[in-house]
Amino acid sequence: MTRRVAIIGGGPAGLMAAEQLAVGQQDLRPGAANRLEIDVFDAMPSFGRKFLMAGKGGMNITHSEPRPAFVARYGARAPEIARLLDAFGPEALRDWMHGLGVQSFVGSSGRVFPTEMKAAPLLRAWLHRLRGQGVRFHVRQRWLGWTASGALRLATPDEEVTLAADAVILALGGGSWARLGSDGAWVPLLAGRGVEIAPLKPANCGFDVAWSAHFRERFAGQPVKPVVAALGERSQQGEFNITASGIEGGLIYALSAPLRDALARDGQAALRLDLAPGRSLERLTAELAQPRGRDSLANHLRRRVGIDGVKAGLLRELLPVETLNAPASLAAAIKALAVPVTAPRPLDEAISTAGGVSFAGLDEALMLKNLPGVFCAGEMLDWEAPTGGYLLTACFASGRVAGAGAAKWLGQQSTSL
Ligand SMILES: Cc1cc2nc3c(=O)[nH]c(=O)nc-3n(C[C@H](O)[C@H](O)[C@H](O)COP(=O)(O)OP(=O)(O)OC[C@H]3O[C@@H](n4cnc5c(N)ncnc54)[C@H](O)[C@@H]3O)c2cc1C
Repeated sequence: MTRRVAIIGGGPAGLMAAEQLAVGQQDLRPGAANRLEIDVFDAMPSFGRKFLMAGKGGMNITHSEPRPAFVARYGARAPEIARLLDAFGPEALRDWMHGLGVQSFVGSSGRVFPTEMKAAPLLRAWLHRLRGQGVRFHVRQRWLGWTASGALRLATPDEEVTLAADAVILALGGGSWARLGSDGAWVPLLAGRGVEIAPLKPANCGFDVAWSAHFRERFAGQPVKPVVAALGERSQQGEFNITASGIEGGLIYALSAPLRDALARDGQAALRLDLAPGRSLERLTAELAQPRGRDSLANHLRRRVGIDGVKAGLLRELLPVETLNAPASLAAAIKALAVPVTAPRPLDEAISTAGGVSFAGLDEALMLKNLPGVFCAGEMLDWEAPTGGYLLTACFASGRVAGAGAAKWLGQQSTSL
């Protein structure tokens, strides 16, 4: 018997599900009679557009840190993601990539990159291998939901068509960078079928700050480094950028989930910056208490404590004159400058999406409990993680699990016929 699996969404999660099904075909049931037809549909004119974008600045595919630390990156969803990583973790991911002829290396931060730092050679080799394994690809086919009789509705450039599939894997991505394909338009389609979905929220995102016109014009685009940013108990050293509307960059992304949640909970939130990570409060206080003579504050800050440019600009922007003129208070502010944020940047600008299909509505194989035969994978699931390769790792792992789950489920259906 020939069974058809429709995979909607040709990003890392959907393609990995296709590969798992193609490779695992022989496990479905012995005999050519039990063939699987595997079709991948994507709304865009080509596959893996966000994956390619992830490769632009040097694709960080996974991380080499020990398993407990790795799993902890998924926060409240660590138990659910740990199960997925059991099936296909960071080591397996690297081996898989090597199997496609793309070697990897571990950067000084422990992050893992393909040797060439790009996603394109990997995606090219992968699509080629998938085609060889019999996976069929269809672009410009937008999934619109189901017909009353349960067939898939697909909008093609010419017309709307319907498709009957024995199993469906949805790997539709989150809701950011819509121009790359994942626009979150699936939310009402699944919610309308009773699927529990946590609201999509920006993750790894920038934040708005109410800069003065002067500060914005003078400093937008400038990096602030080195700096320690803190929120509650969490703190991290790194760098970020001033933007016309606020702040963004790696250090901000790292704290963006608790910052976003604090804003939503309290209606306000502030990041605390240590602008002089290498210097103690005592030393700063002693240096700033030295007589200034005719020196301007700017010169005094630069000569005594090495603070100038955008860091000095931040102090002027955010502190009242009395604090700027009181050495002890100024030193304290340099070590803990409060930067009030007003809102996260919109979802479309975020690196990734929090929220999505709730794990409570999925079984262990990532099949929707109230839509048997429909599986979900990738960023559309309700989890989030910082940057560092954790996003792609979980997307690949969930694709594996959903693919294996669909194969097993189809096998059970054949048996029960
Ligand atoms: C700028 C940027 C840099 C990044 N860098 C990294 C990084 O270095 N490391 C890392 O781990 N992660 C990174 N990420 C995140 C990572 O790229 C994503 O988490 C990952 O691509 C999500 O995979 P996915 O398969 O779940 O979804 P996606 O890659 O978003 O794929 C979903 C696919 O579904 C298709 N689709 C959506 N709706 C429909 C529909 N209705 N019908 C048909 N097709 C549909 C889309 O066109 C798309 O091709 C980055 C993201 C961005 C934006």
